[in-house]
Amino acid sequence: MSSWKRTHSCGELKASDSGKDAVLMGWVNGVRDLGGITFIDLRDRKGVTQVLVRPDAGQEVSGAAKKVGSEWVIAVRGKVARRDEATINPNLPTGEIEVVAGELQILSESKTPPFVPEEELNVGEEIRLRHRYLDLRRPVLLRNLAMRSRLALSARSYLDQQDFYEIETPFLTKSTPEGARDYLVPSRTQKGSFYALPQSPQLFKQLLMVAGFERYFQIVRCFRDEDLRADRQPEFTQIDIEMSFADQDDVFAVVEGLFVHMLGAVGIEASAPFPRLTWAEAMDRYGTDKPDLRYGLEIADVSKVFSGSGYGIFEKVIAGGGTVRAMVAPACSGYSRKDIDGLEKLAKSQGAAGLGWARWTDAELSSPMSKHVGEARLKEAFEQAKGGPGDLLLLVAGESRQASVVLGALRLEVARRENLAKPGTWRLAWITEFPLFEWNETSKQWTSSHHPFTSPHPDDLDRLESDPGSVRSLAYDVVACGYELGSGSIRIHRADVQSRIFRALGIEDEEAQAKFGFFLEALQYGAPPHGGIALGFDRIAMVAAGGTSLRDVIAFPKTTSALDLMAGSPSPVTEEQLRELGLALWKDPSKASG
Ligand code: ASP
Repeated sequence: MSSWKRTHSCGELKASDSGKDAVLMGWVNGVRDLGGITFIDLRDRKGVTQVLVRPDAGQEVSGAAKKVGSEWVIAVRGKVARRDEATINPNLPTGEIEVVAGELQILSESKTPPFVPEEELNVGEEIRLRHRYLDLRRPVLLRNLAMRSRLALSARSYLDQQDFYEIETPFLTKSTPEGARDYLVPSRTQKGSFYALPQSPQLFKQLLMVAGFERYFQIVRCFRDEDLRADRQPEFTQIDIEMSFADQDDVFAVVEGLFVHMLGAVGIEASAPFPRLTWAEAMDRYGTDKPDLRYGLEIADVSKVFSGSGYGIFEKVIAGGGTVRAMVAPACSGYSRKDIDGLEKLAKSQGAAGLGWARWTDAELSSPMSKHVGEARLKEAFEQAKGGPGDLLLLVAGESRQASVVLGALRLEVARRENLAKPGTWRLAWITEFPLFEWNETSKQWTSSHHPFTSPHPDDLDRLESDPGSVRSLAYDVVACGYELGSGSIRIHRADVQSRIFRALGIEDEEAQAKFGFFLEALQYGAPPHGGIALGFDRIAMVAAGGTSLRDVIAFPKTTSALDLMAGSPSPVTEEQLRELGLALWKDPSKASG
């Protein structure tokens, strides 16, 4: 390495720096050899600066400049000069100047890279992930990870101001109760036994409350061995929070402040308090438990309008206890039959029998249903769904919740087509009062919607045994932009209530003891009332960066098959390693040959 000291980054020199001496170091972003003179675009994490090598630069500098290629690492010492008016590049922050090279050192050569790390790249993701260190040189990924860093640091400073302690919890631990498959780590010292990597620090953070820490947080990696989608990774990061002597309002106040602070640090406005919707309201009005509230498009119940209308399909649904639900697509009366057919296809893919519709143009109202139900009823339905001339009305009949879910999917599609979700605004909201249990058809059992340590709603406690499906919980989600960004709950802090929950879940005492005995024991030594939340940090960073894939905000992500293509993991281990762990690989007899 040269003894030179870097004086500036490649992103900061301006016309006012003209005449200054500068030493820049970075990667060669491009070279243009114009015969006598050579231009080198030099890049570091802050930007790109043009280096000019003049014909009179001297043999050593010119020779070196001729040799360098894409992604070589060089150091340049030279003078900052204002560019000729005609060659100023207004798109580049350093576009007014260039550095006239007096000396040039090659710090490191590069093989021809498999792709050039440009802002937009038309290269398959596989090759990008295989050479992730090159991919990460792309300005967009640099920006995303810089933003992620600001989000994390501002979360830490906010939680510190709020008197939270940052405490680490173990990675080599026991299965945690989030309901996904565990990643297992074999123990060498206890052959035949395994650690589980934590799906979350749930039990440990509750134990920290029993221990009396009162306010805990951790920006922590969690591991879940699930089938992956674009917005899931096998290892992911949560901002994990737990508070003692806190009710739902206390948790909400901390989290609202955290979001406002954190997003503010990256230039996104969010205002508190966040509106609150119960789960049932969210499902009815938006057809989802993670509504995007950047736009309206609310779903309305218009069953009354159509009951007694004589329209067979709707009448039958209403008579069977179902509803007719409607949504207005504003200013969409110009949708063609083809557009509407596309929406109907989507509705059917969500389980609807069909899609009713009416277009209200300024001139007329047109709908295949007009002749059956009459214009007046359709206009009334428009009105109830808060629509009018210029709009398109979409109608779905069916079991009430299912009809809402279908319209929820149409709502997203209309918003996408009409570009209704303005970037840069978040409209965060709380979803509360989730059902405590969900019925699992396969195992014919109730399972926890959140996890088994979630407190039932106190008003519903007496129905725990008689009507578990109707019991609400003190669980909540924070949502924005159509994403669930976090979920948490007020916990059970009494051993007797905890036992009733296990019973309702069909978990025998013995099983509960084996899985969570240490935790249940702790609950008997003075557990304060407590609650908390875990925020999906990768997802927050993804939405903040305007991305759609978690891989855009994780430095070294895995593919959807949970592979690390760069390091080549997972990978086989040696016989010796297996022996040490007391393991033999299972051979599937159905696949045995010969
Ligand atoms: N442990 C839960 C989760 O990871 C969050 C919580 O209840 O705090 O989803």
